[in-house]
Amino acid sequence: MEHIENDDKYNGLTVNSGVKQPPVVNPYMKRRKKRPLPSASELIDGILKGNVTMLSRAVTLVESLSPEHQAIAQEVIEKCLPYSGNSRRIGITGVPGAGKSTSIDVFGLHVLKNGGKLAVLAIDPSSERTKGSILGDKTRMEKLSIHPDAFIRPSPSAGSLGGVARKTRETIVLCEAAGYNNIFVETVGVGQSETAVHSMVDFFLLIQLAGTGDELQGIKRGIMEMADGIVINKADGDNIDRARLAQAQFRSALHLFPPTLSGWMPEVLTYSGYYELGIAEVWEMIDRYFEFVKKNGYFEQRRANQARYWMYETIDEQLRANFYRNPEIESLLAEKESRVLANHQSSFTAARDVLDRYFALISHK
Ligand code: GDP
Repeated sequence: MEHIENDDKYNGLTVNSGVKQPPVVNPYMKRRKKRPLPSASELIDGILKGNVTMLSRAVTLVESLSPEHQAIAQEVIEKCLPYSGNSRRIGITGVPGAGKSTSIDVFGLHVLKNGGKLAVLAIDPSSERTKGSILGDKTRMEKLSIHPDAFIRPSPSAGSLGGVARKTRETIVLCEAAGYNNIFVETVGVGQSETAVHSMVDFFLLIQLAGTGDELQGIKRGIMEMADGIVINKADGDNIDRARLAQAQFRSALHLFPPTLSGWMPEVLTYSGYYELGIAEVWEMIDRYFEFVKKNGYFEQRRANQARYWMYETIDEQLRANFYRNPEIESLLAEKESRVLANHQSSFTAARDVLDRYFALISHK
């Protein structure tokens, strides 16, 4: 091919030919020995004794895509299930910069003052381990990350939201079996992930900031409806008045919503995570909520609904994965897609053809 930059008359930037790369990056680098896989019973034993290393290794298997790892993970989860459930599961959301990690650090220390253990998990479908996760990063929770009774785990790496959320839900079971009686699940308040977190926690806390007066427009109605408590952070210094104003606005907005299923009226409080003001009050609200829903039976009902939800969610997810990962379906899909785009076939008959082929394929198995 002719390149204009190779012409003598060309005055612009030219491209030099590159340097030949050596075939091996580092010939002296030794292959790392693989650690042998722990057995399911070793992991279960360790988890039930509260061994953090075993817990972490089990969570790694839960997050792994390898069928061999999954088989062990599923056995561990099944055996841990009878020992799980005895915790307060609290979801925490807020837009980036709302102060989630600062707040989780102080909320966590507050909770741990009464003894017990705390696990902080995260759901961040955009994160990939290699790029560093936005949420659940140890460096973001300075005090908690060195606390002996806190277990912090970043979000499972990127994948479908359903997949990432399911792994977190399974990790909750393992943490509870290991004696963690407080579970925080953090998510970034920008989209669908709140729904996923809401479907695995007992209490959903929405962290907000006081803004210019029109902050109510900035948050999705759906998220506010999910909240059991709204807390306005950074109520410190000359921001206190604005935080109080936002509090009043949120309170009146909440009155416009239909009553919640639990019968609980979501509360709106102000606090400062950074200056540690109003932390006890936020926690007293959460205590009140648990007392309320345990008394009226909603606590059990919500957990039962969630268990059902996750059963169907998992079926959905695995069906989809099985369908889309089938090589024959993959090529048929590509073919049908181009037919549909070229107007040679309708979307509906194309979909029906692909599904018919899939059903035929699996019924011959
Ligand atoms: P995240 O992205 O939601 O996890 O937010 P961070 O916890 O990282 O906080 C974002 C910024 O807000 C940081 O610079 C914090 O120091 C600051 N911040 C967090 N909480 C408070 C607070 O209560 N008051 C004030 N003034 N700043 C805060």
